[in-house]
Amino acid sequence: MSLPQPIPRTGDLPPRILLSPPHLSGREKAYVDDAFASNWIAPLGPHVDAFEREVAAMTGSKGALALSSGTAAIHLALRLAGVERGDYVLCSTLTFVASAGPILYLGARPVFVDSEPETWNMCPLAFERACRTITDEGYPLKAAVVVNLYGQSADLEPIAAICDRYGIALIEDAAESLGATYKGKVSGTWGRFGVYSFNGNKIITTSGGGMLVSDDTEALERARFWATQARDAAPHYQHSELGYNYRMSNILAALGRGQLEQLEERVERRRAIYEAYRARLEPILGLHFMPESPEGRSTRWLTAITVDEEYAQVSARQLLNCLERNNIEARPVWKPLHLQPLFASSPYFPYFEGYSVSDQLFANGICLPSGSAMTDEEQARVMDTIETCIQNGRSVLRR
Ligand SMILES: *Cc1c(COP(=O)(O)O)cnc(C)c1O
Repeated sequence: MSLPQPIPRTGDLPPRILLSPPHLSGREKAYVDDAFASNWIAPLGPHVDAFEREVAAMTGSKGALALSSGTAAIHLALRLAGVERGDYVLCSTLTFVASAGPILYLGARPVFVDSEPETWNMCPLAFERACRTITDEGYPLKAAVVVNLYGQSADLEPIAAICDRYGIALIEDAAESLGATYKGKVSGTWGRFGVYSFNGNKIITTSGGGMLVSDDTEALERARFWATQARDAAPHYQHSELGYNYRMSNILAALGRGQLEQLEERVERRRAIYEAYRARLEPILGLHFMPESPEGRSTRWLTAITVDEEYAQVSARQLLNCLERNNIEARPVWKPLHLQPLFASSPYFPYFEGYSVSDQLFANGICLPSGSAMTDEEQARVMDTIETCIQNGRSVLRR
Protein backbone atom coordinates (compact mmCIF):
# COMPACT_ATOMS: atom_id res chain seq x y z
CA MET A 1 0.00 0.00 0.00
CA SER A 2 1.40 3.43 -0.87
CA LEU A 3 0.03 6.55 0.73
CA PRO A 4 -1.20 9.53 -1.27
CA GLN A 5 0.92 12.58 -0.51
CA PRO A 6 -0.94 15.32 1.33
CA ILE A 7 1.42 17.95 -0.08
CA PRO A 8 2.05 17.31 -3.75
CA ARG A 9 5.03 18.65 -5.69
CA THR A 10 8.62 18.92 -4.63
CA GLY A 11 9.60 22.55 -4.83
CA ASP A 12 6.47 23.45 -2.91
CA LEU A 13 7.83 21.87 0.25
CA PRO A 14 7.39 23.87 3.44
CA PRO A 15 10.54 24.57 5.52
CA ARG A 16 12.09 21.53 7.15
CA ILE A 17 11.24 20.75 10.77
CA LEU A 18 14.12 18.96 12.48
CA LEU A 19 13.97 16.31 15.18
CA SER A 20 16.00 18.08 17.87
CA PRO A 21 18.23 20.93 16.64
CA PRO A 22 20.41 23.09 18.93
CA HIS A 23 18.65 25.98 20.67
CA LEU A 24 20.74 29.01 21.65
CA SER A 25 19.04 31.96 23.30
CA GLY A 26 20.86 32.91 26.47
CA ARG A 27 24.31 34.11 27.48
CA GLU A 28 26.20 31.54 25.39
CA LYS A 29 27.76 34.17 23.13
CA ALA A 30 28.84 36.37 26.04
CA TYR A 31 30.64 33.46 27.70
CA VAL A 32 32.29 32.37 24.44
CA ASP A 33 33.39 35.99 23.78
CA ASP A 34 34.94 35.99 27.24
CA ALA A 35 36.87 32.81 26.39
CA PHE A 36 38.18 34.52 23.24
CA ALA A 37 39.01 37.77 25.02
CA SER A 38 41.00 35.94 27.69
CA ASN A 39 42.77 33.75 25.07
CA TRP A 40 41.82 30.59 26.99
CA ILE A 41 41.50 28.51 23.82
CA ALA A 42 42.56 25.18 25.28
CA PRO A 43 41.16 21.91 26.60
CA LEU A 44 41.26 23.46 30.06
CA GLY A 45 40.57 26.88 31.55
CA PRO A 46 38.26 28.84 33.83
CA HIS A 47 35.06 28.02 31.92
CA VAL A 48 35.82 24.28 32.09
CA ASP A 49 36.35 24.55 35.86
CA ALA A 50 33.19 26.62 36.32
CA PHE A 51 31.10 24.34 34.09
CA GLU A 52 32.21 21.33 36.15
CA ARG A 53 31.35 23.10 39.42
CA GLU A 54 27.96 24.17 38.08
CA VAL A 55 27.01 20.70 36.82
CA ALA A 56 28.16 19.15 40.11
CA ALA A 57 26.08 21.68 42.07
CA MET A 58 23.03 21.24 39.84
CA THR A 59 23.09 17.45 40.13
CA GLY A 60 24.17 17.32 43.76
CA SER A 61 27.24 15.24 42.85
CA LYS A 62 30.50 15.65 44.73
CA GLY A 63 32.41 16.07 41.50
CA ALA A 64 32.16 16.41 37.72
CA LEU A 65 34.62 15.98 34.86
CA ALA A 66 34.03 17.80 31.55
CA LEU A 67 34.94 15.70 28.52
CA SER A 68 34.92 15.76 24.74
CA SER A 69 31.81 13.54 24.52
CA GLY A 70 29.35 11.42 26.45
CA THR A 71 30.94 8.40 24.81
CA ALA A 72 34.30 9.34 26.36
CA ALA A 73 32.57 9.61 29.75
CA ILE A 74 31.16 6.07 29.40
CA HIS A 75 34.58 4.76 28.37
CA LEU A 76 36.25 6.31 31.44
CA ALA A 77 33.46 5.15 33.78
CA LEU A 78 33.89 1.57 32.58
CA ARG A 79 37.63 1.74 33.10
CA LEU A 80 37.12 3.19 36.60
CA ALA A 81 34.77 0.27 37.30
CA GLY A 82 37.73 -2.02 36.62
CA VAL A 83 36.42 -3.40 33.34
CA GLU A 84 39.14 -5.25 31.48
CA ARG A 85 39.52 -7.55 28.50
CA GLY A 86 37.24 -10.59 28.81
CA ASP A 87 34.97 -9.06 31.48
CA TYR A 88 31.20 -8.99 31.03
CA VAL A 89 29.20 -5.77 31.10
CA LEU A 90 25.41 -5.54 31.04
CA CYS A 91 23.77 -2.83 28.96
CA SER A 92 20.26 -1.71 28.05
CA THR A 93 19.48 -2.89 24.52
CA LEU A 94 17.13 -0.07 23.50
CA THR A 95 19.65 2.73 23.12
CA PHE A 96 22.15 4.51 20.92
CA VAL A 97 25.30 2.59 20.00
CA ALA A 98 27.45 4.86 22.21
CA SER A 99 26.09 3.18 25.37
CA ALA A 100 27.86 -0.07 24.45
CA GLY A 101 30.66 0.90 22.05
CA PRO A 102 33.11 1.67 24.89
CA ILE A 103 32.57 -1.88 26.29
CA LEU A 104 34.22 -3.09 23.08
CA TYR A 105 36.98 -0.42 23.32
CA LEU A 106 38.07 -2.21 26.50
CA GLY A 107 37.88 -5.67 24.96
CA ALA A 108 35.01 -6.60 27.28
CA ARG A 109 31.82 -8.46 26.34
CA PRO A 110 28.50 -6.63 26.24
CA VAL A 111 25.37 -8.50 27.31
CA PHE A 112 22.09 -6.83 26.41
CA VAL A 113 18.97 -6.59 28.55
CA ASP A 114 15.46 -5.92 27.26
CA SER A 115 13.09 -3.08 28.10
CA GLU A 116 10.00 -3.24 30.30
CA PRO A 117 6.73 -1.94 28.81
CA GLU A 118 6.18 0.52 31.71
CA THR A 119 9.20 2.77 31.06
CA TRP A 120 10.73 1.33 27.85
CA ASN A 121 13.92 1.12 29.94
CA MET A 122 15.91 -1.85 31.22
CA CYS A 123 13.60 -4.39 32.86
CA PRO A 124 14.81 -5.06 36.45
CA LEU A 125 13.61 -8.69 36.28
CA ALA A 126 15.42 -9.45 33.03
CA PHE A 127 18.44 -7.63 34.48
CA GLU A 128 18.43 -9.85 37.56
CA ARG A 129 18.08 -12.94 35.37
CA ALA A 130 21.09 -11.81 33.34
CA CYS A 131 23.20 -11.17 36.48
CA ARG A 132 22.31 -14.56 37.89
CA THR A 133 22.96 -16.47 34.66
CA ILE A 134 26.34 -14.86 33.98
CA THR A 135 27.55 -15.26 37.58
CA ASP A 136 26.27 -18.85 37.83
CA GLU A 137 28.19 -19.71 34.70
CA GLY A 138 31.31 -18.31 36.34
CA TYR A 139 31.95 -15.37 34.01
CA PRO A 140 33.42 -12.16 35.45
CA LEU A 141 30.64 -9.55 35.61
CA LYS A 142 31.93 -6.05 36.38
CA ALA A 143 29.48 -3.31 35.50
CA ALA A 144 26.10 -2.33 34.06
CA VAL A 145 25.37 0.59 31.73
CA VAL A 146 21.76 1.56 32.40
CA VAL A 147 20.16 4.02 29.98
CA ASN A 148 17.45 6.60 30.73
CA LEU A 149 15.65 6.55 27.40
CA TYR A 150 14.38 9.76 25.78
CA GLY A 151 14.74 11.57 29.10
CA GLN A 152 12.94 9.06 31.33
CA SER A 153 14.78 7.37 34.16
CA ALA A 154 14.94 3.61 34.33
CA ASP A 155 13.52 1.93 37.44
CA LEU A 156 16.83 2.53 39.16
CA GLU A 157 16.05 1.63 42.75
CA PRO A 158 15.65 -2.13 42.16
CA ILE A 159 18.42 -2.05 39.55
CA ALA A 160 20.84 -0.38 42.00
CA ALA A 161 19.94 -2.97 44.66
CA ILE A 162 20.69 -5.81 42.23
CA CYS A 163 24.03 -4.18 41.32
CA ASP A 164 24.93 -4.04 45.03
CA ARG A 165 23.95 -7.66 45.50
CA TYR A 166 26.18 -8.79 42.64
CA GLY A 167 28.96 -6.33 43.48
CA ILE A 168 28.94 -4.61 40.10
CA ALA A 169 29.27 -0.91 39.29
CA LEU A 170 26.16 0.91 38.12
CA ILE A 171 26.92 3.40 35.35
CA GLU A 172 23.92 5.59 34.61
CA ASP A 173 23.81 6.67 30.97
CA ALA A 174 21.88 9.90 31.50
CA ALA A 175 22.89 11.36 28.12
CA GLU A 176 19.23 11.99 27.33
CA SER A 177 17.97 12.73 30.84
CA LEU A 178 19.88 15.75 32.14
CA GLY A 179 17.24 17.65 34.15
CA ALA A 180 15.06 14.62 34.91
CA THR A 181 14.39 13.19 38.36
CA TYR A 182 13.55 9.73 39.70
CA LYS A 183 12.11 9.28 43.20
CA GLY A 184 13.04 12.91 43.90
CA LYS A 185 16.73 12.41 43.09
CA VAL A 186 18.47 13.84 40.04
CA SER A 187 18.80 11.57 37.03
CA GLY A 188 22.44 10.56 36.58
CA THR A 189 23.23 10.37 40.29
CA TRP A 190 21.84 6.91 41.10
CA GLY A 191 24.87 4.92 40.09
CA ARG A 192 28.52 4.95 41.05
CA PHE A 193 29.01 7.05 37.88
CA GLY A 194 26.66 9.19 35.83
CA VAL A 195 27.13 10.31 32.24
CA TYR A 196 25.68 13.33 30.44
CA SER A 197 26.03 14.32 26.80
CA PHE A 198 26.11 17.79 25.27
CA ASN A 199 25.99 16.62 21.67
CA GLY A 200 24.22 18.95 19.24
CA ASN A 201 20.90 17.09 19.42
CA LYS A 202 20.68 16.84 23.22
CA ILE A 203 18.57 18.93 25.57
CA ILE A 204 21.46 21.35 26.07
CA THR A 205 24.58 21.33 23.92
CA THR A 206 28.20 22.38 23.65
CA SER A 207 28.11 21.26 19.98
CA GLY A 208 29.93 18.15 21.20
CA GLY A 209 30.81 17.28 24.76
CA GLY A 210 30.06 15.21 27.80
CA MET A 211 30.33 15.10 31.59
CA LEU A 212 31.14 12.34 34.05
CA VAL A 213 29.72 12.83 37.56
CA SER A 214 30.32 10.89 40.74
CA ASP A 215 30.54 11.18 44.52
CA ASP A 216 33.86 9.35 44.27
CA THR A 217 36.13 12.34 43.70
CA GLU A 218 39.28 10.20 43.79
CA ALA A 219 37.94 8.16 40.89
CA LEU A 220 37.20 11.36 39.00
CA GLU A 221 40.79 12.50 39.50
CA ARG A 222 42.03 9.23 38.02
CA ALA A 223 39.69 9.74 35.05
CA ARG A 224 40.97 13.31 34.68
CA PHE A 225 44.52 11.92 34.52
CA TRP A 226 43.60 9.35 31.85
CA ALA A 227 41.65 11.99 29.88
CA THR A 228 44.76 14.19 29.60
CA GLN A 229 47.05 11.53 28.08
CA ALA A 230 47.98 10.11 31.50
CA ARG A 231 50.94 12.41 31.99
CA ASP A 232 52.95 11.43 35.04
CA ALA A 233 54.05 14.16 37.45
CA ALA A 234 57.41 14.86 35.83
CA PRO A 235 58.89 17.90 34.06
CA HIS A 236 59.59 15.78 30.96
CA TYR A 237 56.86 13.85 29.14
CA GLN A 238 56.55 10.57 31.01
CA HIS A 239 53.78 7.99 30.80
CA SER A 240 53.25 4.84 32.85
CA GLU A 241 49.62 4.27 31.88
CA LEU A 242 47.58 4.47 28.70
CA GLY A 243 45.61 7.70 28.41
CA TYR A 244 43.32 9.52 26.00
CA ASN A 245 42.81 13.03 24.68
CA TYR A 246 39.31 13.44 26.10
CA ARG A 247 39.09 16.90 27.70
CA MET A 248 36.53 19.56 26.84
CA SER A 249 37.77 22.85 25.38
CA ASN A 250 37.34 26.09 27.31
CA ILE A 251 35.33 27.57 24.40
CA LEU A 252 32.82 24.73 24.45
CA ALA A 253 32.55 24.85 28.24
CA ALA A 254 31.68 28.55 27.89
CA LEU A 255 28.88 27.60 25.51
CA GLY A 256 27.75 24.89 27.93
CA ARG A 257 27.53 27.34 30.85
CA GLY A 258 25.19 29.57 28.86
CA GLN A 259 23.10 26.52 27.99
CA LEU A 260 23.03 25.14 31.53
CA GLU A 261 21.43 28.35 32.82
CA GLN A 262 18.44 27.56 30.60
CA LEU A 263 18.11 23.87 31.40
CA GLU A 264 14.93 24.15 33.44
CA GLU A 265 13.18 26.17 30.70
CA ARG A 266 14.31 23.62 28.13
CA VAL A 267 12.84 20.76 30.14
CA GLU A 268 9.57 22.69 30.62
CA ARG A 269 9.33 23.39 26.91
CA ARG A 270 10.00 19.79 25.86
CA ARG A 271 7.43 18.55 28.33
CA ALA A 272 4.90 21.06 26.99
CA ILE A 273 5.60 19.82 23.45
CA TYR A 274 4.91 16.26 24.60
CA GLU A 275 1.65 17.35 26.27
CA ALA A 276 0.48 19.20 23.14
CA TYR A 277 1.17 16.15 20.97
CA ARG A 278 -0.64 13.97 23.42
CA ALA A 279 -3.71 16.19 23.75
CA ARG A 280 -4.28 16.10 20.02
CA LEU A 281 -2.96 12.71 18.88
CA GLU A 282 -3.76 10.35 21.71
CA PRO A 283 -7.47 10.17 20.75
CA ILE A 284 -6.44 8.77 17.35
CA LEU A 285 -7.07 5.05 17.29
CA GLY A 286 -3.81 3.06 17.30
CA LEU A 287 -1.46 5.82 18.52
CA HIS A 288 0.10 5.31 21.96
CA PHE A 289 2.53 7.54 23.83
CA MET A 290 5.65 6.47 25.69
CA PRO A 291 4.31 6.19 29.23
CA GLU A 292 5.66 8.34 32.06
CA SER A 293 6.62 6.39 35.11
CA PRO A 294 4.91 7.75 38.24
CA GLU A 295 8.30 7.46 40.00
CA GLY A 296 9.91 10.25 38.05
CA ARG A 297 9.82 13.34 35.90
CA SER A 298 11.08 12.86 32.35
CA THR A 299 12.77 15.61 30.33
CA ARG A 300 10.76 14.40 27.33
CA TRP A 301 13.93 14.89 25.31
CA LEU A 302 12.06 13.28 22.42
CA THR A 303 8.34 12.61 22.26
CA ALA A 304 8.04 8.95 21.30
CA ILE A 305 4.89 7.14 20.18
CA THR A 306 4.02 3.69 18.94
CA VAL A 307 1.71 2.98 16.04
CA ASP A 308 -0.53 -0.07 16.29
CA GLU A 309 -1.09 -0.78 12.62
CA GLU A 310 -4.20 -2.86 13.20
CA TYR A 311 -6.03 0.14 14.67
CA ALA A 312 -4.23 3.09 13.06
CA GLN A 313 -4.40 1.36 9.65
CA VAL A 314 -1.00 2.76 8.78
CA SER A 315 2.31 1.36 9.96
CA ALA A 316 4.99 3.30 11.77
CA ARG A 317 7.20 3.10 8.68
CA GLN A 318 4.43 4.44 6.43
CA LEU A 319 3.83 7.33 8.82
CA LEU A 320 7.57 8.10 8.88
CA ASN A 321 7.69 8.13 5.07
CA CYS A 322 4.67 10.39 4.91
CA LEU A 323 6.25 12.85 7.38
CA GLU A 324 9.48 12.82 5.37
CA ARG A 325 7.60 13.65 2.15
CA ASN A 326 6.28 16.68 4.00
CA ASN A 327 9.78 17.72 5.02
CA ILE A 328 9.38 16.75 8.67
CA GLU A 329 12.23 14.87 10.32
CA ALA A 330 10.94 12.02 12.47
CA ARG A 331 12.92 8.86 13.31
CA PRO A 332 12.29 5.27 14.27
CA VAL A 333 12.90 4.44 17.92
CA TRP A 334 16.54 3.28 18.42
CA LYS A 335 17.27 -0.02 16.74
CA PRO A 336 17.99 -2.33 19.71
CA LEU A 337 21.66 -3.15 20.07
CA HIS A 338 21.05 -6.91 20.22
CA LEU A 339 19.78 -6.59 16.61
CA GLN A 340 22.86 -4.69 15.40
CA PRO A 341 25.35 -6.57 13.21
CA LEU A 342 28.15 -5.14 15.39
CA PHE A 343 26.82 -7.04 18.42
CA ALA A 344 25.58 -10.18 16.64
CA SER A 345 27.58 -12.47 18.95
CA SER A 346 26.51 -10.78 22.22
CA PRO A 347 24.11 -12.56 24.60
CA TYR A 348 20.64 -11.06 25.03
CA PHE A 349 18.11 -11.36 27.86
CA PRO A 350 14.56 -10.59 26.65
CA TYR A 351 11.60 -9.51 28.80
CA PHE A 352 10.66 -13.16 28.96
CA GLU A 353 11.62 -16.21 26.95
CA GLY A 354 10.41 -15.78 23.39
CA TYR A 355 9.14 -12.21 23.85
CA SER A 356 11.22 -9.09 23.31
CA VAL A 357 9.66 -5.72 24.22
CA SER A 358 12.39 -3.69 22.50
CA ASP A 359 11.84 -5.50 19.18
CA GLN A 360 8.19 -4.40 19.31
CA LEU A 361 9.10 -0.82 20.22
CA PHE A 362 11.56 -0.71 17.33
CA ALA A 363 9.03 -2.09 14.86
CA ASN A 364 6.27 0.32 15.88
CA GLY A 365 7.98 3.30 17.52
CA ILE A 366 8.50 6.81 16.16
CA CYS A 367 10.25 9.85 17.65
CA LEU A 368 8.56 13.12 16.73
CA PRO A 369 10.19 16.54 16.32
CA SER A 370 10.74 17.76 19.87
CA GLY A 371 13.26 20.62 19.75
CA SER A 372 12.68 23.27 22.39
CA ALA A 373 12.90 26.02 19.71
CA MET A 374 10.05 24.49 17.70
CA THR A 375 7.16 26.99 17.48
CA ASP A 376 3.52 26.14 18.19
CA GLU A 377 2.82 26.70 14.46
CA GLU A 378 5.51 24.20 13.48
CA GLN A 379 4.18 21.66 15.93
CA ALA A 380 0.66 22.21 14.59
CA ARG A 381 2.01 21.43 11.12
CA VAL A 382 3.52 18.17 12.37
CA MET A 383 0.20 17.19 13.96
CA ASP A 384 -1.87 18.23 10.91
CA THR A 385 0.42 16.12 8.75
CA ILE A 386 0.11 13.09 11.02
CA GLU A 387 -3.68 13.37 10.95
CA THR A 388 -3.73 13.73 7.17
CA CYS A 389 -1.33 10.82 6.69
CA ILE A 390 -3.53 8.57 8.81
CA GLN A 391 -6.80 9.73 7.20
CA ASN A 392 -5.36 9.18 3.74
CA GLY A 393 -4.08 5.76 4.74
CA ARG A 394 -7.54 4.83 5.97
CA SER A 395 -9.30 6.12 2.84
CA VAL A 396 -6.94 4.07 0.65
CA LEU A 397 -7.94 0.99 2.61
CA ARG A 398 -11.65 1.76 2.31
CA ARG A 399 -11.51 2.06 -1.47
C1 LIG B 1 23.91 10.84 22.77
C2 LIG B 1 24.02 9.62 23.56
C3 LIG B 1 25.27 9.11 23.96
C4 LIG B 1 26.58 9.62 23.46
O1 LIG B 1 26.86 10.92 23.72
P1 LIG B 1 27.92 11.69 22.79
O2 LIG B 1 28.12 12.95 23.55
O3 LIG B 1 27.24 11.91 21.47
O4 LIG B 1 29.14 10.87 22.69
C5 LIG B 1 25.30 8.00 24.79
N1 LIG B 1 24.17 7.40 25.18
C6 LIG B 1 22.96 7.84 24.81
C7 LIG B 1 21.75 7.13 25.31
C8 LIG B 1 22.84 8.95 23.97
O5 LIG B 1 21.64 9.36 23.57
